[in-house]
Amino acid sequence: MENTFGEKKLHIQWFPGHMTKARRMMEANLKLVDVVVELLDARIPRSSANPMLQQLIGSKQKIVVLNKTDMADPDQTRAWLTWLKKKNFTALEVDCQKGRGVKALVTAIQKAGEPTLEKWRKKGVRNRSIRVMIVGIPNVGKSTLINRLLGRNKTVTQNKPGVTRGPQWVILGKGLELLDTPGVLWPKFDNPETGFCLAVTGAIREEVFDQEIAVHILVQRLMKRYPQELCANYKIELTTEDTVETVEEKIALSRGWLQAGGVADKNKTIQMVLRDFKSGKLGAFTLEIAPKTGGEQ
Ligand code: GDP
Repeated sequence: MENTFGEKKLHIQWFPGHMTKARRMMEANLKLVDVVVELLDARIPRSSANPMLQQLIGSKQKIVVLNKTDMADPDQTRAWLTWLKKKNFTALEVDCQKGRGVKALVTAIQKAGEPTLEKWRKKGVRNRSIRVMIVGIPNVGKSTLINRLLGRNKTVTQNKPGVTRGPQWVILGKGLELLDTPGVLWPKFDNPETGFCLAVTGAIREEVFDQEIAVHILVQRLMKRYPQELCANYKIELTTEDTVETVEEKIALSRGWLQAGGVADKNKTIQMVLRDFKSGKLGAFTLEIAPKTGGEQ
């Protein structure tokens, strides 16, 4: 997989085989649920989605949830939600780390499950719960969301004692049961942009891509879209003559990171920028701009 930006190419050493088991398990579990919560990274709503999911869940109810909104550009989060809703998705935003938006999600799940309950009621079944599952690519926040939904005092119900451990349902109350194991979706690399987005947000391990090239592309983007934040964070100034190389050098120099001979320590700079971006310390940035509502994309 290559991402070409000027001279730079980001190569991802990705082996889809790793995901096969997780995928099979998810497919099996999907059959058991009424509502699927698809967790996306608000910084990369396009790259963190897997279009295969729709095919797998068929006509089941789905809720699209943008997570990590604390690290995303709020204007862009709003624009993405508007676009998703325009496409008739039930969509909302959360910050699972702080728990913001989780209550609204519970309400949305109840609403999405209502048609299923209605079907059961017509068959005379009154006390059935809505069964929910969280799915998403690695590191998008699935476990954090599950823990948030569980809160305290929730019980895990065993299916049948003595039987090999199957899917575990956690009673959430309010007529909801949650599958305790999230569905792990495999990241897709179907366009040159995706590998880059997944790499710098932490969805794929750092060993499988060239950090120098990823940060090069990242700095290039930040110079264009978020120059003020870049300057303020690293206490540098940009001129029209600056290139990615000179900006990286300025960052290193502003930190006093010089190697023997007075050369800027590029390696240390790259590590820091990647770490700062991933943790949100650099600012709340969205890498993928929402499609304009009104236009088709
Ligand atoms: P999973 O692989 O999808 O289960 O992801 P995890 O739940 O393990 O989360 C991956 C990382 O993202 C962890 O370090 C979480 O603390 C962090 N994380 C999850 N949700 C949020 C969020 O809304 N905001 C921030 N800043 N970090 C989050």
